[in-house]
Amino acid sequence: MARKYNFYAGPSTLPFEVLKELEKDLVDYQGSGLSLVETSHRSKEYDEVHFSVINGIKSLLDVPDDYEVLLLGGGATLQFSMIPQNLLGDKSSVDFVVSGTWAKKALADAKLYAEANVLWDGKDGAYTSLPSPADLKPNAESAYLHITSNETINGVQWKDFPESDIPVVADMSSDILSRPLPVDRFGLIYAGAQKNLAPAGVTMVIIRKDMINRAPEKLGAYLKYKTHADKDSLYNTPPVFPIWAMSKVLKWIEGKGGLEGIQELNSRKASLLYGVIDNTDGFYNCPVDKDVRSHMNVVFTLKNEELQDEFLKGASQRDMLGLKGHRSVGGCRASIYNAMPLEGVQALADYMKEFAKKNG
Ligand SMILES: *Cc1c(COP(=O)(O)O)cnc(C)c1O
Repeated sequence: MARKYNFYAGPSTLPFEVLKELEKDLVDYQGSGLSLVETSHRSKEYDEVHFSVINGIKSLLDVPDDYEVLLLGGGATLQFSMIPQNLLGDKSSVDFVVSGTWAKKALADAKLYAEANVLWDGKDGAYTSLPSPADLKPNAESAYLHITSNETINGVQWKDFPESDIPVVADMSSDILSRPLPVDRFGLIYAGAQKNLAPAGVTMVIIRKDMINRAPEKLGAYLKYKTHADKDSLYNTPPVFPIWAMSKVLKWIEGKGGLEGIQELNSRKASLLYGVIDNTDGFYNCPVDKDVRSHMNVVFTLKNEELQDEFLKGASQRDMLGLKGHRSVGGCRASIYNAMPLEGVQALADYMKEFAKKNG
């Protein structure tokens, strides 16, 4: 089988080794005569997988003891409303940094439940930079400050995080486990699976224990973090398949040298592409400020926009898929999450150079 390079923003590429292992184990799980996906989620077999994921996340991210790791459904999108519903407590406002498309969506849901103070909302109408963490002045009266660690569509990534007296809540859907992380600086971290963790269907939440009990009584059981924390995320049937796949992805990351190893690899991959973009005499342009360029989603435009379709067509003929930018911002985007191999990025960099030379 000729495996193509998947530069889609999500669902995104998974490590080939993980897919092969899942294929091998899918029908008969470890000689049990059943597939894991048809085995009870209360069984010993599933229990091992479930806790290997919770403990694997704790170990990779060095999660302090006063935090819980939860495995939920509903995607990152459910967290947009679950967070304000759970964390407001006796407060009535929340703070937001609006850094792009995903932050806007999170903000829209938060506004249904709370007053929202927007501390920063792009620069000159563009989401191509970030505020300096030290310049942010969160309101002491707000329940939390929400940020988006990596804007998947705009290609903007926080390199350092705000220090804040109120809890920082971060949507890390598109860069979780791509680099080491100071978990103790956050009140809550959340991430949908389908960028860096697993196939879609499971959402990871890391929450500081003192924030679990703030939810009002009148909130459905599933919507309360406490429900899941009390039951080790086995309150109801968990999304077995993505959690199982995640157990393999976590081992794969360990094999790459953990988060330090992965970060180094991700930096090399990102440098290859930004290097080409910055060294082709303006043939390509990345609109994002250099110090906050994403190592996960590299956005760029071609100076001559008329060449873009030809560029994308040539890429797909070379088995490189998913390079068209999001319809809301246009241009091109190469999503190079953890599982995108260096060779894939090298192939793209070579093609970009060749295309610029031919058409420049
Ligand atoms: C993809 C993405 C989401 C949405 O995730 P779902 O799991 O589809 O709900 C939210 N935030 C960011 C930053 C994303 O990249």
